[in-house]
Amino acid sequence: MPIASPEVKTASPCGPGLPRLGFVQVLFGRENGFCFGVKKAVELTEAAAESGRKVHNLGQVVHNPKISERLAARGVKVVQSVDEVEGGVVVIRAHGIPPETRAAIEAKGLECVDATCSLVLRAQRFTKQLADEGYRVIILGTANHPEVIGLRGFAGKDHVIVETSEEWQRLPKMKRAGVVSQSTQPPWAFRDLVAHVTAISQETKVFNTVCPVTIKRQEATTELTGEADLIVVVGGKNSANTRELVNLARMQGRTAHHIEHAAELKAEWLAGTERLGIIGGCSTPMDTLIEVRERAEALAG
Ligand code: SF4
Repeated sequence: MPIASPEVKTASPCGPGLPRLGFVQVLFGRENGFCFGVKKAVELTEAAAESGRKVHNLGQVVHNPKISERLAARGVKVVQSVDEVEGGVVVIRAHGIPPETRAAIEAKGLECVDATCSLVLRAQRFTKQLADEGYRVIILGTANHPEVIGLRGFAGKDHVIVETSEEWQRLPKMKRAGVVSQSTQPPWAFRDLVAHVTAISQETKVFNTVCPVTIKRQEATTELTGEADLIVVVGGKNSANTRELVNLARMQGRTAHHIEHAAELKAEWLAGTERLGIIGGCSTPMDTLIEVRERAEALAG
């Protein structure tokens, strides 16, 4: 069950030009805060920064602007390529990297802290296994997402990335197909892809690499849409798992807004809302969610 705010706020005039709000009860999704992979990546980066060495994140360590600001304040620099690093420590992001990037870090003799989530490492191992066994590797995911860029580095030459049913309907018939997924893809999309690939290939091998933590977060969103009449999803605009929660709430007929910070919550969204549901992506810290709740209560009270 979603978790209700202890307070129910009453209406009051909100100032000139702003709508008058009604009673708003705030509900939190039953799954919220960092997943274990994000928690590990942030803690490893902070520990490296505390050591006093020059620390570089190879890409945003997790897709959340507040975390990026927090790490930048501790002197952590985000770089896009190993070429930009001249000494110090390189922290590999939760989404992982392709083998050639790891080789480049080693070739430069840089100290490396590997914050790749254990579930992403598992997906990389399975992807390599499929390629080594001679399967054409089909990856369900967004081609330019860092996790997918990492996975394709393990998929050998014969691989293809698909994200939509239109894309996988265009796949040719094949002898041996191996299927894996970006961790944050919706489980129903993975099931549909596997069913289709099974129909067009003589032999299919599947590793289900959809992250169980994101599935639980999606289930919590579904529950919340049943309880609240407006959903606010909090997280980085570039966070794949956060965007999936927004899509899911909208697919279930709820109005859903995607915000990164409490300040983005608009008073007019709350006009006529009785129960506001708040849920965050896997890289959204709890304190940001609490700030959103406090702003909702301040706008209503
Ligand atoms: S969402 Fe899942 S795969 Fe991604 S970092 Fe969190 S636990 Fe790992």
